[in-house]
Amino acid sequence: MENKKEMRKWLDDFGLDHPLVIAGPCSAETEEQVLKIAHQLKDTDATVLRAGIWKPRTRPGNFEGVGSLGLKWLKKAKEETGMLTTTEVANPAHVDLALEYDVDILWIGARTTVSPFIVQEIADALKGTDKTVLVKNPVNPDLSLWLGAVERLHTADIKNLGVIHRGFSAYEKTKYRNNPEWQIAIELQNKFPDLPLILDPSHIAGRRDIIFDLCQTALDLNYDGLMVETHHTPDDAWSDAAQQITPATLVQIMKDLKIRKEISESEEFQNKLSNLRAQIDIADNQLIELLSRRMKVSDEIGKVKKAQNVSVLQTKRWNEILGNMVLEGEQHGLSEEFILRLFKAVHQESINHQEKIMKG
Ligand code: PEP
Ligand code: MN
Repeated sequence: MENKKEMRKWLDDFGLDHPLVIAGPCSAETEEQVLKIAHQLKDTDATVLRAGIWKPRTRPGNFEGVGSLGLKWLKKAKEETGMLTTTEVANPAHVDLALEYDVDILWIGARTTVSPFIVQEIADALKGTDKTVLVKNPVNPDLSLWLGAVERLHTADIKNLGVIHRGFSAYEKTKYRNNPEWQIAIELQNKFPDLPLILDPSHIAGRRDIIFDLCQTALDLNYDGLMVETHHTPDDAWSDAAQQITPATLVQIMKDLKIRKEISESEEFQNKLSNLRAQIDIADNQLIELLSRRMKVSDEIGKVKKAQNVSVLQTKRWNEILGNMVLEGEQHGLSEEFILRLFKAVHQESINHQEKIMKG
């Protein structure tokens, strides 16, 4: 993708002195709801109003969106507040309607990005548009699929582009609705530093209490913007109620966030440092998550051993693990001394867990 700088012109043209903020409800529900939220967001840092009109639901039977009717409400909200508007398009018919109602920014959802066929159809329908198109990451953690979608749009002569990081689904339940897998977005940022990168903390979190932390991490990693689901009465929202916040909470979050700017040399240094520190924090959290998962498996082994009345300490098996890990560590540039110390501590914790189960 040449002319990369061109992709972010739309964002630079906003001339904002803070990251771009896109806010608004998960779904447009009624005209009053859309207008109410738009007016509450009007004089905040939010420049763009979001609302889903066609809602892709993983399971049928949930609210599937109001359909094209909602486009009129978005248009009215734009006229009344001056905010730009954005909605999700998932097929060429959506594209035609969104363009007809002058939606400013179109986004491609996570369930669409996984399908190169549909992305190509959307790219063809949008060919040469001067609207901005944002591509959410695919539901599965696959950077090529994400980039592939951006490339299809770029090839269709769509100049104003950006990506939205909304996390990746995983079979195993964690504290997130969708695992952030920050390293994937960081890799994308390293490959295409000029492609605007926006965080959607709402769909990563699935709950409102960790939205702030996710936003701060994104700013520490020099993201260009945030897309936050915002509703005047979140608990009553027709979709994604648990993760939505009020416009007032959004304003407070924007006040509390530390925004890092690139100005002086020392600030650039600080910037680099906080970016790297954020990466360390992410890795540390992943370590804790992984260790906890390992201990849970260990608990299960404890239960099996208890049922069979087998001893906790299985020296032969343990020596095998240790030997393998030393070799594995060596290949990853980790010293034998470190691996031995680390795994002895892990083993000890495992034994403690299993003994608790034996005695329980
Ligand atoms: C949304 O933004 O409301 C949405 C459906 O998002 P995603 O495609 O990330 O699931
Ligand atoms: Mn949603």
